[in-house]
Amino acid sequence: MNKVFVTKEILPEETRVALVPADVKKLITLGYEVGIEKGAGLKTGYSDGEYTEAGARIFSSPEEGFGFADIIVRINKPDDIGGIKSGTLHISSFDVFNHGEAIKQYAAAGIKLISLEMVPRTTLAQKMDIQSSQMSLAGYYAVILAASRLPKIFPMMMTPSGNISPARVFVIGVGVAGLQIIATAKRLGARVEAFDTRPVVEEQVKSLGARFIKIDLGEMGQTEQGYARELTPEQIELQRQGQARICAQSDVVITTAKVFGRKAPVLLTKEMTAQMKSGSIIIDMAVKTGGNVEGSDPNKDVVLDNGVTIIGGDGLERFIPRDASGMYSGNIFAMLEHFWDSEAKTFKVDTSDEIMQGCLITNEGSIVHERFKDQ
Ligand code: NAD
Repeated sequence: MNKVFVTKEILPEETRVALVPADVKKLITLGYEVGIEKGAGLKTGYSDGEYTEAGARIFSSPEEGFGFADIIVRINKPDDIGGIKSGTLHISSFDVFNHGEAIKQYAAAGIKLISLEMVPRTTLAQKMDIQSSQMSLAGYYAVILAASRLPKIFPMMMTPSGNISPARVFVIGVGVAGLQIIATAKRLGARVEAFDTRPVVEEQVKSLGARFIKIDLGEMGQTEQGYARELTPEQIELQRQGQARICAQSDVVITTAKVFGRKAPVLLTKEMTAQMKSGSIIIDMAVKTGGNVEGSDPNKDVVLDNGVTIIGGDGLERFIPRDASGMYSGNIFAMLEHFWDSEAKTFKVDTSDEIMQGCLITNEGSIVHERFKDQ
């Protein structure tokens, strides 16, 4: 398995490409052959010529590429199996929790699936972690978006013409995206407050110069993988009450609160958003997994009667495709390098490897991942 094919993304809103020319070159040096679908890098800003210069072959259709490939790499889940051959390894973010039926079809077709959002959160696997690489960029962009839409500036300004107070930004959920949101909003001069249910976050928030909002929800904690535990309905209600006043005073509220593999908790109700100041901006970065904000929509901005705008902040990394593709491609390269068997000159689906066990969903005609086996 040494022939890698990069497809053009199907989703019209997708701007990224799974491998950038610099990593194509590195893969070829390692021993892989690389093919790319014509025009796959155009939205990111890479021409076919740059890929050929890096050593890739250009295929004019996905079917031609599938014929060549042992390994397919892309960003999203494809619409269907298309012409993918049995025995091919397919690497992408497959959104496995929402596509149980598709997993069964891929297993039955003999396609090996690696779903990148399942890469375990270990130190060794960090360089392959697309969630971290993409969410830190999305967090940065969320702040830029909020700043461009807010009717006031972020920093404090004291001038002979008058004084301007700093914008107040409230961040709910301080994981990978949240930390980048705090850092970016602080750099722009905002006054930043934040809350997360994982107690370890308080120190991180303070070290970035933001204020941690303390809300006592009783037992909270995190999983071994570093993810938040799901709250009870009573805890969510307590959290809403604890946050309501801060939301009402904020110019910008950005929510990123997710619970891995489950629906995101609704943390801002209609009653809470109705109390916010006119002109305030809310960005719901959990909108795709159910949403933290009542009424948020992944496809359009929602302007409330009181002049508050709710932006559905899914896929914000797509607005900065150069860097997002560069980081995603780095994650793919790290995986292809980690599982490269230099003697046999092949990618090795090493099922004894902890990282492989975490993200390999189907293999040899069956669903092999513990979490999806019995569905
Ligand atoms: P995530 O996207 O699942 O969730 C985002 C944040 O929302 C998390 O911080 C979570 O605690 C928080 N959250 C969930 N419910 C909440 C609620 N009701 N109210 C407020 N906040 C809530 O998580 P993530 O950002 O992908 O990562 C979480 C943590 O995992 C990181 O901060 C890090 O410590 C760890 N991590 C480790 C590795 C690694 O070791 N390879 C890589 C990435 C992340």
